[in-house]
Amino acid sequence: MSNQPYSFFQSVEKSFDKAAKFTKFEKGLLEQIKACNSIYSMRFPVKMDDGRIEVIEAYRVQHSQHKSPCKGGIRFSDAVNQDEVMALASLMTYKCAIVNVPFGGGKGGIKINPRKYSTYELEKITRRYTSELVKKNFIGPGIDVPAPDYGTGEREMAWVVDTYASLKPGDIDAAGCVTGKPISQGGVRGRKEATGLGVFFGIREVCNMTDVMKKLGLTTGIVGKTVIVQGMGNVGYHTAKFFREHGAIVIAIAEYEGAVYKADGINEEDLFQHRKKTGSILNYPGATNLAKTSDALELDCDILIPAALENVIDGENAPRVKAKIIAEAANGPLTPEADEIFAAKGILVVPDMYLTAGGVTVSYFEWLKNLSHVRYGRMEKRFSENMNSHILNQMETLAGKQVTEKERNFILHGADEIDLVHSGLEETMIAATREIMDIWKNNPDIPDMRTAAYVSAINKVGTSYTELGIFP
Ligand code: GLU
Repeated sequence: MSNQPYSFFQSVEKSFDKAAKFTKFEKGLLEQIKACNSIYSMRFPVKMDDGRIEVIEAYRVQHSQHKSPCKGGIRFSDAVNQDEVMALASLMTYKCAIVNVPFGGGKGGIKINPRKYSTYELEKITRRYTSELVKKNFIGPGIDVPAPDYGTGEREMAWVVDTYASLKPGDIDAAGCVTGKPISQGGVRGRKEATGLGVFFGIREVCNMTDVMKKLGLTTGIVGKTVIVQGMGNVGYHTAKFFREHGAIVIAIAEYEGAVYKADGINEEDLFQHRKKTGSILNYPGATNLAKTSDALELDCDILIPAALENVIDGENAPRVKAKIIAEAANGPLTPEADEIFAAKGILVVPDMYLTAGGVTVSYFEWLKNLSHVRYGRMEKRFSENMNSHILNQMETLAGKQVTEKERNFILHGADEIDLVHSGLEETMIAATREIMDIWKNNPDIPDMRTAAYVSAINKVGTSYTELGIFP
């Protein structure tokens, strides 16, 4: 971890200030955009399986209400503190603005290492946290909508929605109080892999830009590119999967116990099974072990993907990084010093707050599904299939020829929920990548893509505040 002179929240503020110079808003408004509007710091007791009472430290921060509800995950980690949750909540505001998801930013955190608790204890902690949020009006489909984050997943979201719904009997929109739920509890298909798929769509778009690739000395496209992924959680796993499936070679994967390197590529699912069996990613057949997980960050590769926690690359190790593109799949993996070093070396940093937006984008789709009370595709799937069939039959009759069985199935297929979610995500990530790149290209003084992304976010949030006219 870094020995940097300022906190995570201050480093977000630093990046913000760097970008604010390229916007037209007055100082006071910029201060308002930066500030965290509401901070709820709580302590509550939970009785553990052995009868002990433990005081749990937890937070929920609502960074901005320029749009409602607030949105952002809940993380379970030893490292949770108020500053971290504030930084992450701010990043959510900017993230949502960039991808045009109409939410303000929020984030929650519980300071626990989930590995040290039983399932029953985790359920009690999660339910108690939720009821504390309900008591203070810090959760609700129109107020603040949590989601999974580091250390949490579908299971915890199911506990959140169940606790909320039981405290709000008759609330017909209760399912919209949290996203990332299991399908049976109102979740949407495609949410689990959404962040990883969003990272893939974003980087694929960057790699399709001929001028950008030329500057980096790379060919266009994903096929054959060497990739290193740090973190085998939900985001890292799915990111590795989509890159491999589209022809990239994942040469190294790092976790906290160490890293493995294999020049001809690692299959993330095999590695996952190996870890399940042996308790570690190390000694994966055919691969070389790297004792220090951070060594993996310094290997030669085209795309380095930090997909774990914040501040893993700082002023100290940045000079040794050899990647040409850094794809930030975690929130805040680089410090501002690392940014400066990479900008000077011509390494392209594709920034977290837009590249990780896949999760919240699909959360938005889930929330819309909950409010509309109908599954995507339910109304139009059969209609499209019947219409496609009719059109194809007509064409075959007119042409006197028939398409192959495979083509027939492809043409006839009406969109399912998963098709629509993936398509909405693809469109969102492509549009955001182009928008940010255009801002960067149109202003040669903007030093890096992160600053361009912040400019995009500040412009949208600033315009929203201005048009609200809330400054009498
Ligand atoms: N925790 C995820 C993030 O940091 C998802 C947030 C959400 O879906 O609301 O973007």
